[in-house]
Amino acid sequence: MALTDVMAIGAGGERSLSQQASGVFARLMLVASVVAGVAHFGFIFLFQQVGVPALAVANVASVLCYVLAVALIRRGQVNNATLLMGAEVVAHGIAATVMIGWDAGFHHYIVLTLPFVVVSAHYRMRTRIVMALAVSLGYMALDLFYRQAEPMVVVPKPLLDSLHYINLATMLAVMAVLASTYYRLVRRSERRLHELACTDPLTQLRNRRFMMEVAQHEAAVFERDGRPLSVLLGDVDHFKRINDHHGHAVGDEALRAIARVLREGVREVDHVARWGGEEFLVLLPGTELDEALQVAERLRVAVQALAEVDGRRGLGLSITLGLAELQQGEGIEQALVRADRALYDGKQGGRNRVVLAGQA
Ligand code: GH3
Ligand code: MG
Ligand code: MG
Repeated sequence: MALTDVMAIGAGGERSLSQQASGVFARLMLVASVVAGVAHFGFIFLFQQVGVPALAVANVASVLCYVLAVALIRRGQVNNATLLMGAEVVAHGIAATVMIGWDAGFHHYIVLTLPFVVVSAHYRMRTRIVMALAVSLGYMALDLFYRQAEPMVVVPKPLLDSLHYINLATMLAVMAVLASTYYRLVRRSERRLHELACTDPLTQLRNRRFMMEVAQHEAAVFERDGRPLSVLLGDVDHFKRINDHHGHAVGDEALRAIARVLREGVREVDHVARWGGEEFLVLLPGTELDEALQVAERLRVAVQALAEVDGRRGLGLSITLGLAELQQGEGIEQALVRADRALYDGKQGGRNRVVLAGQA
């Protein structure tokens, strides 16, 4: 998955993942440009000292580049800053190689531009391929012409060696930071995708698909350890009327309010899901029928007590609930069918009530 895709995933939540990812990237670039700026500032004096004034001047230009890059990032122009930094790295790598030779290792930094080109969110695939090829071929051409060429200025060997290993180590460190940042972003997007796949977008409750997995798991625990499991299937009464009288948006708001009431009305270990349009499923692990009946009754009363939805009073919301406890030898699907039948009986019996399911 490219950084581009990672950045594009998950437009929900307070701050979308793409915003978070661009935030991480912007911070990374900010740190990189400050560090690079300071390092180039040091090089001005170093090259002045060892008698390569042309590179000292080049470093002044580089420092200005990084000051400009910081300013661009602060103004939110991260792409322009990245482009500027890439251009600086390539130009500086070539200039230093031509001036003081391949062995100084300034060419290492050119390699770093490749991952940025490949994952760039800013360019089309074809442009990225052309840029990546240009960087790769340019790098190899530099290798071909300058690996054995005589440098324009001969720098003392100890200094050359120091520069070589400082540059190599810096390039490797930047690679490692880049890879770990990329990995963190991918992991975060995976977690977010999983969360989205399990969540009902309207109510933020668990969705049916995920709840079925949870129910299967809880049924397996019952089978293995005998821990009781009660299932509670609820359906909002005359919900069509709410939509018809107050509009779909108020209907949505009512579903959100009911979802909140259900979630807040049970323990942390209980599971609440939106099972269908205006249907909700509650799983109560470790709860036998008589206790579950009290929970169901409490939830019913809490829904009825919802005084205000979306600023409107007296919507007259109520819910009918069918309750079943999973029995030995029965699958979760059968328990759900029994709860559904009880729910149906509750509707027939006048709604706004809890009905116990018959035996399997
Ligand atoms: P009953 O008491 O028999 O359950 O009556 P009801 O009107 O609730 O039942 P019915 O199944 O006839 O209607 C359910 C309604 O719920 C119809 C459908 O438009 C509405 N609904 C389902 N999902 C949503 C939703 O996401 N938002 C809104 N606003 N309405 C929804
Ligand atoms: Mg219904
Ligand atoms: Mg209904």
